[in-house]
Amino acid sequence: MTAENGRSDIPGLDSTRLILLGTKGGPRPSITRANPANLVVAGGAVILVDCGYGVTRRLLEAGFHPHEVRTILITHHHSDHTLELGPLLYNAWIGGLDEPVDVWGPPPLHGLIRGFLQSMSFDIGIRIADEGRVDPRHLVRVHEFREGGVLFEDGNLRVSAARVHHPPLADAYAFRIDASDRAIVLSGDTTPCPELISLARDADVLVHEVLHPDGIDRLASGLRQARLLREHLSASHTLTEAVGKIAASARVGKLVLTHLVPGDDAAITEDMWLDQPTRDFGKAVFVGHDLQPF
Ligand SMILES: [Zn+2]
Ligand SMILES: [Zn+2]
Repeated sequence: MTAENGRSDIPGLDSTRLILLGTKGGPRPSITRANPANLVVAGGAVILVDCGYGVTRRLLEAGFHPHEVRTILITHHHSDHTLELGPLLYNAWIGGLDEPVDVWGPPPLHGLIRGFLQSMSFDIGIRIADEGRVDPRHLVRVHEFREGGVLFEDGNLRVSAARVHHPPLADAYAFRIDASDRAIVLSGDTTPCPELISLARDADVLVHEVLHPDGIDRLASGLRQARLLREHLSASHTLTEAVGKIAASARVGKLVLTHLVPGDDAAITEDMWLDQPTRDFGKAVFVGHDLQPF
């Protein structure tokens, strides 16, 4: 394993691959789908996009170890995208991480990571003294950003971000990963917005969040804060009736639906997810499942 630019010598890193790790949108955990996370292997790098609850287990199931991830991109600070960031970093450290991992995301990324490591300081202190481990606080490089554009690039890979529209958060981003053979775009959480369409222009794969209208009322029923939930969902996410049109406007090669809301309601069938987006896009649309490769 080499430290340079986050690349490693793990076999099979030559061609670009996307593996969905968690496809359920929203903070509630589920036994059928993990919360949002995606793995992109590109340009010799192992990149994790978001760290929802369940990410460590899904990463292991996908055949990767936490310490093999050297780049983490966080789209925004809703807990379904960040809840397991700290534990994943801890698991990388305890698994033998001895070279830096770069974490990119909007503020308060520094505070989130510092706070987690602080909460574990008793255990970390014991393991440094007792097991001779490197201090994990020296292994995590945090890169906070608030502007879109190219975040970093080298000869094999370019990673770009675009600010998207996900109220009430001001800082929510989509990412584009360009490798020599493929371009993959991940929407993060967003309403339909021109910034996402520009970022995704001519990409091979668009991984996009989606909300099914039939599921909203069922999801909200029985909840005390039903009205608020309904308002939040419809004002800050993308419905099935819009997502296919976005993919068509961006002229992407294929559309992968993820961050499904509701993600664990059997009454919303695969055909129901696909129907409208397939008609609007006219090309391949997939309903994402955990551990599905593209
Ligand atoms: Zn979300
Ligand atoms: Zn969100």
